[in-house]
Amino acid sequence: MPKALDPEIRRAVADRIRYYNALGIYDFYRRAGSAEVVPSVPESDPEPAPSDKMTRPVPVESKKPADRVSALRLIREDIGDCTRCRLHKQGRKQIVFGVGNPNADLMFIGEAPGADEDEQGEPFVGRAGQLLTNMIKAMGLRREDVYIANIIKCRPPGNRTPERDECETCSPFLMRQIAVVQPKAIVALGAVAAKTLLAVNAPMSELRGNWYDFRGTKLAVTYHPAFLLRDPR
Ligand code: URA
Repeated sequence: MPKALDPEIRRAVADRIRYYNALGIYDFYRRAGSAEVVPSVPESDPEPAPSDKMTRPVPVESKKPADRVSALRLIREDIGDCTRCRLHKQGRKQIVFGVGNPNADLMFIGEAPGADEDEQGEPFVGRAGQLLTNMIKAMGLRREDVYIANIIKCRPPGNRTPERDECETCSPFLMRQIAVVQPKAIVALGAVAAKTLLAVNAPMSELRGNWYDFRGTKLAVTYHPAFLLRDPR
């Protein structure tokens, strides 16, 4: 027989579930050995108390120059139909350049295109991308407000982790994209992005939760959405 939850704990659990739902996470599972309790979200969720609300960044009207569009176009032209690394002959369908607001204050950088991205030519459009989009919405922003790119622009075969030389060959184009967009903050999604941008080799558990300096821009490290899909905890 499941134990009834203390109302205080019940409220905290409901808040946490709402938070995960806002990130697009709906599947939960119990760890072996955890207490026999059945949390359920109240049918009509009360509006969280002001102190519970997440701090939402307010999008600011951009005063940055419009020629960023042409600067980004130039980078894309420089990449061309790239054959600089082995990935061009390992089944990639197209180069996945990057997408979003060229004047974005916030930039997300992932690892490499997957099958959906390779098909559509846009980063983060598959399942992990949907979670990222929901996370962006949960921050009070729209996907179109931010800029999204990857460390490398071609899908590795079988979605394997990019090789170091592939990152080294491709990431200079990303550096140019960052220099054009000039975001106020960068979020590195996952270990490949974090380690490439910060040139460190530390575990994610150590890297996340801090601000780093990336060439004068604040950089935060967080888990890759694909990892969060596998382990929502
Ligand atoms: N994973 C990434 O790192 N990037 C994408 O664009 C899609 C999935």
